[in-house]
Amino acid sequence: MMSILLMKMDLGHLLVILTLLCTGLQGAAASEWGYWGKNGPESWPGICTTGKKQSPIDIVTKDAIELNSIPLNFSQYNLAFPATLDNNGHSVGIKLHGAPIHLRGAYVPSGFVLEQMHFHWGAEHTVDGLRDPLELHLVHYNTQYANLSEAAQHGDAIFVISVLFKLSRYDNPHLKPIVEATKKVSCKVGRSTAIKGELIPSLFLPKNYKSHYYYIGSLTTPGCQENVGWFVLTEKLTVSQSQVNVFKRVRGDNGRLLYNYRPTQKLNDREVYKMTWHGLRAD
Ligand SMILES: [Zn+2]
Repeated sequence: MMSILLMKMDLGHLLVILTLLCTGLQGAAASEWGYWGKNGPESWPGICTTGKKQSPIDIVTKDAIELNSIPLNFSQYNLAFPATLDNNGHSVGIKLHGAPIHLRGAYVPSGFVLEQMHFHWGAEHTVDGLRDPLELHLVHYNTQYANLSEAAQHGDAIFVISVLFKLSRYDNPHLKPIVEATKKVSCKVGRSTAIKGELIPSLFLPKNYKSHYYYIGSLTTPGCQENVGWFVLTEKLTVSQSQVNVFKRVRGDNGRLLYNYRPTQKLNDREVYKMTWHGLRAD
């Protein structure tokens, strides 16, 4: 049966199908770290294993200390930006091109700009032990440093906004251009593509959220540098299973990235705060 089909196909069609199925030889070197197997999180190096302020964590809602807080201010998040998406072997990352967009808030000094956005499937932060299918990280760093990796060497130089996505029967229409771009890069680590149209970052923040959790943690990938300020938004967005499945088909260095979340880490002597405010100011 298969051979009959193949005979009826010209070479061009065959190549297209092979590409779609990701069956081409990848030739990628195995990564030094991954999410399972011998390179899994238990064997991540240095402070990843020895640190006391690691992320992600399980947020125990009854233990969170309630605080009143001025709103986070997502400056220029409501503008449209050209964007590219790339497969970095551990996730898909999004870079926005254009004017830097700033995060401000009670715990955020001035000068923090959005460096990139990326996804984890399933979510890294759990809430009362429950894991959502998807989490978006919006990574901001202090521009007094040359770049994100230099900022990571200093305390209080990185803030991450975390948005959790709960499962829905319906596609999230705002995720569509990201999902379509993800399909284009999923077969090969290092592949990059332009996202169709322009991306409005505020569409990836819940519209009517009133509160967020705040704690001090770390990057969730090696080197796991600490003193990262985490804002986990309380209100969630939605994602459909078929959209999640597109992420699960992304190829990493060691085959398909079926999941890319780090297990939750011990809270140790840290506090988690629940901060409330009165609506989103996007200006
Ligand atoms: Zn992340």
